[in-house]
Amino acid sequence: MKLFVWMALVVAWSVVRAEDPGSQLLKNLNPQALKGKKPSYIRLSSDTKYLLGRSCLKYHSLPQWREIIEGALTTGTTCLKQRGSKQSLEIAAGVEGTAQLIQGKALKFLCEEEGYSWKAANPRDENLQADAVATDPDNPHFPTIHMNPRKLPRLSVEELQRILFHESIHLLGYGHFTHIEYSYSCEHCCFHSKEDSEEAQRLGCNICKGKYTGIKDPRYIDDIMQFFRKALPAHSDIRLAEAQSFMKGHRQERWAKFNVLLLSPLPDQAPFTIPYAELLEKKYVPLSEAESRVIKNIKTPENKVFAFLGGENIQHLANAFFFFYESDYKLSEKELMQAQVTDVKQVPATIRARYVNHTVPFLETIKEEVAGGLLAYYSDLEFQAVVQNDAQAQKSIYPHRQRIIRAFFPEWNPNYFPPFKRAEDGTIIVMVDDKEAIRVPASP
Ligand SMILES: [Zn+2]
Repeated sequence: MKLFVWMALVVAWSVVRAEDPGSQLLKNLNPQALKGKKPSYIRLSSDTKYLLGRSCLKYHSLPQWREIIEGALTTGTTCLKQRGSKQSLEIAAGVEGTAQLIQGKALKFLCEEEGYSWKAANPRDENLQADAVATDPDNPHFPTIHMNPRKLPRLSVEELQRILFHESIHLLGYGHFTHIEYSYSCEHCCFHSKEDSEEAQRLGCNICKGKYTGIKDPRYIDDIMQFFRKALPAHSDIRLAEAQSFMKGHRQERWAKFNVLLLSPLPDQAPFTIPYAELLEKKYVPLSEAESRVIKNIKTPENKVFAFLGGENIQHLANAFFFFYESDYKLSEKELMQAQVTDVKQVPATIRARYVNHTVPFLETIKEEVAGGLLAYYSDLEFQAVVQNDAQAQKSIYPHRQRIIRAFFPEWNPNYFPPFKRAEDGTIIVMVDDKEAIRVPASP
C-alpha cells in the first residue's frame, strides 16, 4: 500500500532519478495529454500492424524506420531464442507477438511531446530524462513506445535499436525493480557494443535467462548487483534505486545497507560514501569480513581526497540517509534540512566542473531518495488514518506531510496536496490538480 500511495503522488510531479523509463517513470505518462491532439499515424509496412507517428518522419524516413524497428525486434528475438530458457523463449514470443496485436491493438511508436511529460520526468536535468518510455496497460494509449524528441536527434541507429528492444520488453509487463531485470540484461546480452565490457554481456545473458525463484532470490541479487556495476557504471541512480528497493523489502538486513556502498564505488560519489561508510562502521561492531571489504574498497586514498572536498554539508546528507534506514524519521528530516548538496563554493576550481557534473547529480539523487521516502512515510500514515476514519490522527499527521512538501519539493503547487479525503464512492482522494482528483481504493 505504501508504495501505491507514493506512486499515486508521483503521477504528475515525478521526483524520480531515472535515466531510464522503468516502472516508476511509466507513472509520468499523462493520460490527459493526448486528449486534445490526436497524433496521426502511418503504417510501418503493408505486412506489419505497427503504426508510426508521423512526427517520427522528422528524424528518419519511413524505410529507415522500418529497418530500425524491424531490425531491433528481429535481432532481439533471435538472441533471446538462443538463450533457450523457458523465460527467454517466452519473452521472445512476446516481442514477436507485438507485430500482431497486443490486446487487440496495434503497437504504436511516437516521437513527440504529446502523451508523455518529458519535463516532469526530470525537470532539473535534460540529460537525465528518459530516451524512451513504454506505456503501461492502464494507460489509454497502450501499447505505445514514446521516443523523446529532445534526444532523438542525438541517437545513432544502433542506440535506437537497443532502446526499442528494451522498451518492447517493458510492454510485456516486465518493469525495473518489480520483476527480474530483463530489459537491461537482455539488452546488454543481445546488443553488445564496443563500449560494453565482455563481462557485462556475459552477466546480462545469464540474467536474461531468468533462472531465479524471484527478485528476492539471493543468487539474483548477487548477479544483478554485479551486472549493474559492470554494465551501467555511470548510472549510479538506477543501481541505487535497485539497492534501495531491495533494502526496503529487507529493512532488517544489515547487508543491504552495505550494498549502497558496493554500488557506489566511484571517487565522484565519495563525498557521500565516505561519511556513510563511517556511520556503518560505528554502528556495526565488529564488522563481518565481507562488510570490512566493502568499507575498505570505499576508503581508498583517492576517494578520501575527493570526499574531503565535499565539506561539512555532505555529512548531513549521509546522516539523513543513515537515519532514514534506521527508521528515525525525525532525525533524518532534521539532517536533510541542513544538507546543501549544490553548494560548490568550497570545491577547488580545478575539479569544480567534475564535481558539478558528476558529484552534485549523485548527491541530489540521494537527497531526493530520502525526501521521497519521508513523504511516502507520512503519506502512508495519513492514508491509514483516513481508512480508519480517525480524524484526530489525520489532523496531527497532515502538517508533517505539508512540511516535507514545502521543504523539499518547493516546485510543487501546495494547492494540489490538500488533506486526503474519502470520496462518496469509498475511494480516497490523495491528490487533486486543476483537472482531476487522483483516487486510491481504500482497501489494501
Ligand atoms: Zn527501462
